Amino acid sequence: FTSEKSAKIFIAGHKGLVGSAIVRKLHQNGFKNLVLRSHSELDLTRQSDVESFFSKEKPQFVILAAAKVGGIHANNTYPAEFISINLQIQTNVIHSSYINGVKKILFLGSSCIYPKLAPQPILENALLTGPLEPTNEWYAIAKIAGIKMCQAYRLQYNWDAISGMPTNLYGPNDNFHPENSHVLPALMRRFHKAKIENAKKVVVWGSGSPLREFLHVDDLADAVIFMMEKYSGLEHVNVGSGIEVTIKELAELVKEVVGFEGDLVWDSTKPDGTPRKLMDSSKLAALGWVPKISLRDGLVDTYKWYLENVKQ
Ligand code: GDP
Repeated sequence: FTSEKSAKIFIAGHKGLVGSAIVRKLHQNGFKNLVLRSHSELDLTRQSDVESFFSKEKPQFVILAAAKVGGIHANNTYPAEFISINLQIQTNVIHSSYINGVKKILFLGSSCIYPKLAPQPILENALLTGPLEPTNEWYAIAKIAGIKMCQAYRLQYNWDAISGMPTNLYGPNDNFHPENSHVLPALMRRFHKAKIENAKKVVVWGSGSPLREFLHVDDLADAVIFMMEKYSGLEHVNVGSGIEVTIKELAELVKEVVGFEGDLVWDSTKPDGTPRKLMDSSKLAALGWVPKISLRDGLVDTYKWYLENVKQ
């Protein structure tokens, strides 16, 4: 893969947090022939549009980073959209890729595919060993179907379809929506607003005790290129940082990076979600890939991007 700098590569979802990081990394690595379509140019939920796009463009490689995503509140509020849009996007893109002779496809999911009470750190083989976390089971079921679709196409057609399951991601181009985003961008925005308004208090959801692992999206993009080059297996692969913090520790760190000096107030009417979600990423480490960006450095980088790019 890395020697094919002029190969045609379709990055589905190139404007999102993950897709935009992959595009940046591919450009940095000298890839010149990226195929990109915004949502308004190509609606990936429309089967016939996806079919004509693939038969016309004939990409050689596909990285599937397009998805309907969101935090705990969004998943709970829009379950129908989370399951249906994700199933449609991935089914259309994976099947059209196969039909049109794509050499290799990488499908991206998330750590929420694992059972709520999976033994920690979570190994790849914990998949489908127990009930899911109810706040995001709709999204999780769609992503599990995507992994299984890649496996089925590999088994039946001997086609090089792989899946990567990143832990909680953050970085430039994240969604900073106050209710629907994930915890890290939500807190960054809230602390920033409180700082400029000289507020005394910032509300943080839940108890503060859940543990989460965070990975900077530039590290994920690096891992994606690594997997396109080195991995061709049936099983999906975890992509984590091994950096685990409580939501309280995260809130303190974001507060410090943003420079807010008031207090935290915990809103216990909001759900905690799964108590702990740390992935075991030793499989990827054994193949030779390790993350490079610390949580503090990643937060500083993300806040800089936020200040430069998000309308205040
Ligand atoms: P999850 O990892 O799928 O549970 O997704 P989130 O990133 O949405 O939430 C992670 C944890 O952060 C949960 O325990 C939330 O209750 C907590 N949290 C604290 N404040 C916020 C907030 O402002 N937004 C979100 N989304 N989560 C928050």
